[in-house]
Amino acid sequence: MPADRDQPLAPGLYLVATPIGNLEDITLRALRILRSVDRIACEDTRQTQKLLNHFEIKVPTVSYHMHNELTRTDELIEELIGGARIAIVSDAGTPGIADPGGQIATAAIAAGISIFPVPGANAAISGLIASGLPTDSFTFHGFLPAKEGQRKTALEALVRNGSTHIFYEAPHRIEDTLADIETVFGPAQHVVIARELTKLHEEFLRATVAELRTTLSARTIRGEMVLLLAPAPAAAPAQQAQTSIAEAVSALMQTAGLAEMDALKRIARDRGIGKSQAYRELQREQNRRK
Ligand code: SAM
Repeated sequence: MPADRDQPLAPGLYLVATPIGNLEDITLRALRILRSVDRIACEDTRQTQKLLNHFEIKVPTVSYHMHNELTRTDELIEELIGGARIAIVSDAGTPGIADPGGQIATAAIAAGISIFPVPGANAAISGLIASGLPTDSFTFHGFLPAKEGQRKTALEALVRNGSTHIFYEAPHRIEDTLADIETVFGPAQHVVIARELTKLHEEFLRATVAELRTTLSARTIRGEMVLLLAPAPAAAPAQQAQTSIAEAVSALMQTAGLAEMDALKRIARDRGIGKSQAYRELQREQNRRK
C-alpha cells in the first residue's frame, strides 16, 4: 500500500473535508492529518472544536471565515512559506465548496506552496448520487440568489439539455424557489430535494415541482437541503426556436408599428411565457449584443 501514513507530514496546505452530519464520515486520512498539522484554520473555531474534541485532537485552531479571509490568507501564507503544515476545514463538508478555502488555495499555488486535497463528505455530490438524476453531466451552482427577480433570471439561464443542476437551498426559501421553478420550467418539471443528508432524518423528496409545492404547503421542512433538477430542452415550435425574442420584438415593431413593450407583451402571450420572463430574455439578448 503506497500510504504515506508512516511518513512525517510534508509542509503545505491541507484542504480537509469533514462530515456533513454523520461523524462516521470523517476519513482515517483526515484524522491523521488533523492530528499532525501545526494549525487548523476553521470557518468557526467553536464548531470545529466539537469535532476535534470528539476525536481527541489537540491542535491549535485559528478562525478563517468570509469576513477575515483576505487578511488571514496573508498570515497563513507567511506561515506556510516558513514551512508550516496548515489544515483548512469548514463547518461541514468540503472546504472551498460554498465555503471558505478557494482563496487560500489560489494564494498558496501562486506562492509555490504544496497543496493537498483531503477528500470526504460533500452535500452536493451526496445529493446527486442518490437523486436518480443524470450523474454523467452536472453543474453545481451553490446558492441561488435570494431576490426573486435575480433567482428567476438565474433559473432561466440554466442549460436545458437533460444534465443535472445542483443547488444549495435554505429551508425558509425553498417554497419561493419551487414557485419560481414552476414558473420557469412548468408544473411537470421533476425536482429532487435531498434533505438532512447522512443525518437521522435524511429524506429524499422526488416529484414534479407542482406535487412538491402541494406537499410543502401541508408540512414544514427544516434542516439543510440540496435541490436538484435536470430540465429537458423546451419543446418549442420550430419558428420560435429560430427567432430570438429581440428579433421577434423588432420585427413586430416594424410590421405592426407597435411600441417595444407592446410588442414584447404580444410575443410573451403568443409564446405562452410570462411578461417578466420575456422582458428578462430580451434584456439578456440586448446585453449580449452590446
Ligand atoms: N462545503 C459544504 C459541502 O461540502 O457540502 C457546503 C457548505 S454550504 C455553506 C451549506 C449548505 O450545504 C447548506 O445550506 C445545505 O444547502 C447544504 N448542506 C450541508 N449539509 C447538508 C446536509 N447534511 N444535507 C443536505 N444539505 C446539506
